[in-house]
Amino acid sequence: MQITAAVVPARGAPFAIEKLELASPRAGEVLVQIVATGMCHTDLHARDGYFPFVHYPVVCGHEGAGIVVEVGPAINDLFVGDRVVISFPWCGACGPCRSGHPAYCLQARTLKSSGRRADGTRTIQRRWLPVHACFFQQSSFATYAVAPARSVVKVRDDAPLHLLGPLGCGLQTGAGAVLNVMQPKSGQSFAVFGVGGVGLAGLMAAKITGCDPIIAVDVLPDRLALAKELGATHALESKGAETLAEIHRITGNGVHFSLETSAVPGVFRLAVDALREMGTCVLVGSARPGTEASFAMPVIQGGRMIRGVVQGDSKPREFIPRLVDLFLAGQFPLDRFVTDYKLVDINRAAAEATSGVTIKPVLTMPH
Ligand SMILES: [Zn+2]
Ligand SMILES: [Zn+2]
Repeated sequence: MQITAAVVPARGAPFAIEKLELASPRAGEVLVQIVATGMCHTDLHARDGYFPFVHYPVVCGHEGAGIVVEVGPAINDLFVGDRVVISFPWCGACGPCRSGHPAYCLQARTLKSSGRRADGTRTIQRRWLPVHACFFQQSSFATYAVAPARSVVKVRDDAPLHLLGPLGCGLQTGAGAVLNVMQPKSGQSFAVFGVGGVGLAGLMAAKITGCDPIIAVDVLPDRLALAKELGATHALESKGAETLAEIHRITGNGVHFSLETSAVPGVFRLAVDALREMGTCVLVGSARPGTEASFAMPVIQGGRMIRGVVQGDSKPREFIPRLVDLFLAGQFPLDRFVTDYKLVDINRAAAEATSGVTIKPVLTMPH
C-alpha cells in the first residue's frame, strides 16, 4: 500500500516527506494506522549517523500510536479497530525475553536498527528500491506501520491516542526506572538529573510513590519551573560542585535514588556523588559508543549501586496500560509537556526538541 512518510535521505540530512510503498503484515504482524507518534532523541541520533547499522534512506520513528487496521495470520490477541501503542521490539525466545526482561533482549540491536524484519526481509520500498525501515520494528514516522504483534499494546478506548505514543519508549523509560527498578518507599529521597520527557516521567513516578524530597536538576529555567509544578520539591540549576553541596544540604546525607537522563559524563558523576550510603543511581541516558565516565572507587564501597536501565525494564503490555490508567487518573500528566506538530513540520519539531524549546514533540499524521 502507499504511505506518506518522513524519510532521512542521507546521513545528517533533513527529513523529507515522501510517498512510499509499505508491505502487508505477515504472520505475527499487524498493520497500524498511525494517529500520532512521539519523537525521541534516538530518532535524531539515527538521522545523524550515531548507529553503525543504520543506512540511508531510512524511515525512523519508534513511539507510534494508532488503530489496528489489518491483522496478519497467527494472531489471536489483537483485532481490527484496537487502539494501540507500539513499543520496543523483542524476540521472545532469548534468555532475557523468557525471564521477563524483554528490554534486554539479545536481539534488540538487530531488531531496532538493522532496517529489516527479524527474518531479513524489508517492509518499505521507494520506487522499487529498498528503504532502511523496521526502525524498532515500526518506523512510525509514517501514516501506516507494520509491527510485530508482540510489541503492540492495546490501550483503553477512552484514552486520547494522539498523546500516548511517547509511552512506547521515552516515558516508559523514565517511569519504569522508578516504578519497576528503584521501587522507592514513601518518604525516600529522589533526585533527577535532566528534566526532559524521560526525566519528567521519572519525576512524576517518584511523586506517585511518595518520594520526598524530589530534587530536579537541569540547566533550563523553564523546565525547572515545570518540574516544580509536576512534583519537584526542589529545583536546582545545574552548577557542578555547588549543586552537589545543595543536594547534600537538602537531604542531610545524599539521596536514596538518583536518575541520570542526560548521558553527559560530568552530570552522571554528579548523580553518583549525590547518593547516600546504599543509594542507587540509575542511568537511562544513552551515550554515544565509546563515551567514558569516572567515579571514585570508595563511593561504591559504601554499598552504593550504579546501574543502567533500558526501557524502564518494562513488560510493555503490563506497564503501558498502567501508565495510561495513571494518566487518566491525573497522576501522570504527560499532556503538560507534549507538543503537537504536523508530519510536514517534522524538521521544525526536531529543531525545537534539540534546542529545548519543546520537551516532547508528537507528530500527528495526515489522514
Ligand atoms: Zn529476546
Ligand atoms: Zn526512544
